[in-house]
Amino acid sequence: MPEKRYLFTPGPTPVPPQVLAALAEPVLHHRGSDFRPLYERCLAQLQEVHRTRADVLMFTASGTAAMESVAANLAEGSRAVVVSAGSFGERWEAILAVHGAEVDALRYEWGETPRAEDLAARLAERGGTDLVFLTQSETSTGVVADVQALSAAAKSAGALVAVDAVSSLGAVPLEMDVWGLDAVASGSQKALMTPPGLAFCAVSEQALAAAKPSRSFYLDWKRTQKAQAQLDAPFTPATSLVVALNVALTMLLDEGLEAVFDRHVRLGRACRAGAKAMGLELFSPDEDRSAVVTAIRAPSGIDSSDVISSLRKRFGMTMANGQGHLKGKIFRIGHIGWFDVFDITTALAAVEIVLADLGADIERGAAVSAALDAFESTRVA
Ligand code: PMP
Repeated sequence: MPEKRYLFTPGPTPVPPQVLAALAEPVLHHRGSDFRPLYERCLAQLQEVHRTRADVLMFTASGTAAMESVAANLAEGSRAVVVSAGSFGERWEAILAVHGAEVDALRYEWGETPRAEDLAARLAERGGTDLVFLTQSETSTGVVADVQALSAAAKSAGALVAVDAVSSLGAVPLEMDVWGLDAVASGSQKALMTPPGLAFCAVSEQALAAAKPSRSFYLDWKRTQKAQAQLDAPFTPATSLVVALNVALTMLLDEGLEAVFDRHVRLGRACRAGAKAMGLELFSPDEDRSAVVTAIRAPSGIDSSDVISSLRKRFGMTMANGQGHLKGKIFRIGHIGWFDVFDITTALAAVEIVLADLGADIERGAAVSAALDAFESTRVA
C-alpha cells in the first residue's frame, strides 16, 4: 500500500475533503462578479469567528505577516510591552525590534502561564505604555493564556492590545469585541481547516485610527481596509484559498462555535489522559484551557527527535518536535481543526509502539482506552 500520511501537528492541520474539493474548482478572477460575493461572505464569516464587527483584513501570506502588519502599522515610536512565554512571544519581540518600537518584555520560563497580575504590575511600574502584545495559544509549549484577563489589565493601563491567535482562533473562545482586543492576528492553516497561505488581522476602530503611515506597502492596514470595503482586494489574493476557506468557515459555523470549542476541550482531555495512562509526563498544563496542542516530555533516555522520525518512517505520521531549547526533549500532538477522538487514539497508539521500540517501559493499549473514556465521559459543563 502506498504510504498513508497523517498530520498531527499544530499547523498545518488536516483539511476536510469538502475544502480540498473546493480547491479543485476553476480559478476565479479577483475582480469578477463570481468572486466578489464569495469574498464578501468569507470576510463576514471571519468576523463571526472573531466575534467582532471590526474589519478583518486578509493578506496572502502566513500568520507571521498578520503579526508583522500590527508592528508595521502601530509600532514606530511606540512604547510596547510583550508578554513572552515561548517561541511565539519571542517572535513578537523580534518583529517589534524590526519596526522601531521601544520594547519591554514581561518574560516567563517556557511552559509557564502568564498572569494578568504580573502584567498589571509591570504596566503600573512603567507609567505609559501604548501597546501590549499577547499570545493566546503559545504553540511551542501548549499553554493557552487567559487573554480576557490579560487584555483587561492592558486596557486599564490605557494600552491597545494585540493578540497572536494564530493557533487558537476557531479552537478556543476569543471574543474580540467583548474583551476589547484591538488587533488579532491569525492564519488559515490551523483551526480554520484550510491550507497555509492566508493571514488575517482583525483591527478595531481605535487601532485603525492609531495607525501611522505604514513602513510596509503590502501590509498597510488602511490600504487593505479601503479596498476591502469596496470588495476590491488591493492585490491579487489567493482566490482559490478564499473559495476553500469559505467552505471551511461554513462548516465551522454550522457546527457552531460553542460546539467546536467543546470538542477541542474534549480532544485535549483525551490526549492528556492517554499520554498519562501510558506513563508519560505532560509538559503542557493539565487543564481544559490547553485545548490546542499537547506537549509531552520524552521518557528519560529517549530523544524526542527519534520519536518524531520513527513515527514518520514507520507510519507516515507527522508530529511536532520541541522548539528552541525543548528540541529533543518534548514532542507535541496538535488537535486543532478537523480532528475527532480517533485521530487522538491513532496518534497515541503509534506513540506507544514507537516508544516501546525505543526502549521505554510502556503499557500497550492503556492510552487508547483512557483517551476514549476521557473524550466520552467528560462533556464540558
Ligand atoms: N504564532 C503562533 C502561535 C503559531 O503557532 C504560529 C505557527 N506555528 C505562528 C505564529 C506563525 O505562523 P506562520 O507560520 O503561519 O507564519
